Amino acid sequence: MQNQTKNFFAKLGRGTLSLGAMCFLMGSLASAAKQVRVVTTIPDLADLAREIGGEHVDVRCLSKGTENLHSVHVRPSMLIAMSKADLFLEMGLSMEAAWLPGLLLKARNSKIQPGALGFQNCSAGWQTIGVPEDLSRKDGDVHPEGNPHFNLDPLGGPHLALRVHEALVRVDKGHAEVYGKNLSLWQKRLTQKQKAWTVIAERIKGQKIAVYHSEYDYLARRLGLQVVASIESKPGVPPGPGDIAKVVQTMREQKVTVILTAAWSNNRQVADIAKKAGAQVVELPNQVGGAAWAKTWLDLMDGVHERLDAAFPAKQQ
Ligand SMILES: [Zn+2]
Repeated sequence: MQNQTKNFFAKLGRGTLSLGAMCFLMGSLASAAKQVRVVTTIPDLADLAREIGGEHVDVRCLSKGTENLHSVHVRPSMLIAMSKADLFLEMGLSMEAAWLPGLLLKARNSKIQPGALGFQNCSAGWQTIGVPEDLSRKDGDVHPEGNPHFNLDPLGGPHLALRVHEALVRVDKGHAEVYGKNLSLWQKRLTQKQKAWTVIAERIKGQKIAVYHSEYDYLARRLGLQVVASIESKPGVPPGPGDIAKVVQTMREQKVTVILTAAWSNNRQVADIAKKAGAQVVELPNQVGGAAWAKTWLDLMDGVHERLDAAFPAKQQ
C-alpha cells in the first residue's frame, strides 16, 4: 500500500513536472514567435540589433568576424534565415555587393527586399570618404561607392545604432519605447568610453601608418593618423612587385613604423614588407568577432584604441 502511494505521488510528480515544463516550453515558443527575426550581414549590426532589440529580437548574422566582408562565403543556412526574416540590416555602400544581391532574390521574402519596410541600408545618411572619380569599377575596385568600412569609425557605431533603432521601431512599433530606452543605455555606455578614446587620439595624432586594405581610413581620420601608403594597388586589388617596392620606399622615406592589417589580408606579404621597411605589423579586427576580445562593437573600439596606443610608445624625454 505504501509502495502504491509512493508510485502514485512519483507519477503525479512527474506529471506535474512535465506539465510545468510544457507550460514553460509553450511560453518560450509564444515569446519566440513574437520576436522580430532580424538578419544582418555583419557582426557589428548583429551586436547593435541585440543591444537595442533586447529580448524582443532573434538575431542571425550572415558573416563571421574573421571573414573578408567583400567576399563572404555563401552557405545554404543563409537562405533559410533570410526566408524567415522580418528585418534585414546591411551596411550598404557596396560592402556586400559581391555576394548579397543574388541571395536576397533567392530568399523570396518580400518583407526584406530593398524598398520594403523590413530592409535597412545602414549607410543611409553617412558621409562617405574615398569615393572614386571613375565609377566604372574597372581594375576591380571593390569600393565603387566610396569606403564602406565606417563600422571602424568611432562615430560609425553610433550612426549604425541609430539606423538599427529606426528599423526596429518601423517593423515593431509596439516595442518602440523599449527600443528607445535600450538605445539610450547603449549611448550612455558609449559616452563613457569615448572619454578614454579621446585621450588616446590626442596622444597619437599625427603619427604615420601604412595599411594593406583601406578599411582603417575612417579610424585614421578620426584619430588624426596619417595613412601614407596602401599596400593594395586599389581596394581589393593585390599589389604587384612594383607596388610593393614603392610602398617600402615610401615607408622608409616617411619613417612609417606601423602597418595596420586585418586578419584576412595577405599577412605573409605584409610581414615581408614590414621587415624591409623596418616597421611593426599591428593586426586589428575589421569587424566585431574578428578577434576573441572583440565580442561587441564597444569592445572592438576599446581594443582597437588600446592596441594603437601601444603601437606608438611615448617618446623618451
Ligand atoms: Zn573594403
